[in-house]
Amino acid sequence: MTRSAHYDTIVIGGAVMGSSLAYFLSERARRENVDHSVLVIEADPTYEKASTPLSGGSIRQQFSTPLNVLVSQFGLEVIENWHEWVEVDGQSPELGFVDTGYLFLIDEDRLEGFRQSHAVQRSCGASVELLEIDELAGRFPYLNLDGLVAASLGSREGTFDPWAFMSGFKQRARANGVTYGTDRVIGIGLTQGSISSVSLASGAVLPCSQVVNCAGVRANQVAQMVGLQIPVEARIRTSFVFECRTSIDQIFPLTIDTSGVHVRREGKQFLSGTEPQSDVAVDPEDTRARNEEFEDKIWPALAKRIPQFDEIRVTSSWGGHYAYNTLDHNMVVGSSPINGFFFCNGFSGHGLQQAPAVGRGLSELIFDGSYQTLDLSPLGYERILLGEPVVETNII
Ligand SMILES: Cc1cc2nc3c(=O)[nH]c(=O)nc-3n(C[C@H](O)[C@H](O)[C@H](O)COP(=O)(O)OP(=O)(O)OC[C@H]3O[C@@H](n4cnc5c(N)ncnc54)[C@H](O)[C@@H]3O)c2cc1C
Repeated sequence: MTRSAHYDTIVIGGAVMGSSLAYFLSERARRENVDHSVLVIEADPTYEKASTPLSGGSIRQQFSTPLNVLVSQFGLEVIENWHEWVEVDGQSPELGFVDTGYLFLIDEDRLEGFRQSHAVQRSCGASVELLEIDELAGRFPYLNLDGLVAASLGSREGTFDPWAFMSGFKQRARANGVTYGTDRVIGIGLTQGSISSVSLASGAVLPCSQVVNCAGVRANQVAQMVGLQIPVEARIRTSFVFECRTSIDQIFPLTIDTSGVHVRREGKQFLSGTEPQSDVAVDPEDTRARNEEFEDKIWPALAKRIPQFDEIRVTSSWGGHYAYNTLDHNMVVGSSPINGFFFCNGFSGHGLQQAPAVGRGLSELIFDGSYQTLDLSPLGYERILLGEPVVETNII
């Protein structure tokens, strides 16, 4: 690791959030020709257990709160013009974005909630339609419509490569002069209530002015280093890739069944997952796939909804973590009661798509002292202290 006498900003965690933030900080410094030294400290440069590479890699506009819709729309802007945002010497990692749309299947109980979300999404300019049942039957003839009354279908939504997304931000941040170091942060120093240093497992103590907590499921461990608490814990989610004996030739959006099971194409195969029956905190080191979920819940739900999925075979599975905010399943982003300490945590299963808006927003807070583009303050730490949730109902 290159040693600097003093870093302006030290970012703890170098996966998608840490790298997006490093990108936006360094772009700003370069554009305005100002010095702002950034060090990203990542404990595991293989990212074996980080959420980012284990994620489903999808983006949607179908959220229930306007802010989450707008956050994802900025994510889309970056994804759709990816090369221009991150290229270095004419090269950028291949993102492979496929605009499949998301199809939320709706039963009677959830119809009113979806109507409200639909109005929110339309007011934000999202391209979404509420499909009546006969329209649904006509457009997706492979679906069994039992128990359904409608569906919500979006476009400018789809799937991309999470690793490429993280790597694009990282390569450009590095080209802009950001340093990435491999080590584990074990302590944070304060001087008169303000951030003054970071201590590493290797024994180094690095002076700095700002620290940003991008530590994923270890968010609370890092918050405790400055005497704060954040209600973020590791929750396991298992992803299953399977092949189907017969092909489905029609358009196949990322589909969310009323059972909570979701499924999308993965090349010539399909990828599926769901919330576990017992959704409890797990050890951050525990990423064991919960393979029993497939037989217990996923397969029966899939076969009921899409009869062709009666004949499928799992080809691979893996476990990964949601950094789950137990208050309201929404991000916790922005400043804290400790001067110079910032949160970038609790993304609860939709952080990948939110990384661009969050990185940009935090870079504005650090440079300007306030949000300049999208105001993320409703999703700040204050609501945690007050115990006032900002509930997002469209959770997968
Ligand atoms: C199965 C699954 C499906 C998902 N699907 C989607 C999806 O379709 N769309 C979407 O938008 N999001 C999705 N997500 C969520 C998304 O993956 C996460 O919200 C996002 O990757 C979070 O990124 P992060 O950088 O905050 O955390 P992480 O990727 O977990 O990275 C945190 C990093 O911090 C490092 N770290 C921790 N503590 C320290 C320390 N003390 N010192 C140094 N380094 C430290 C870790 O090593 C790690 O690399 C999914 C997640 C899962 C598990």
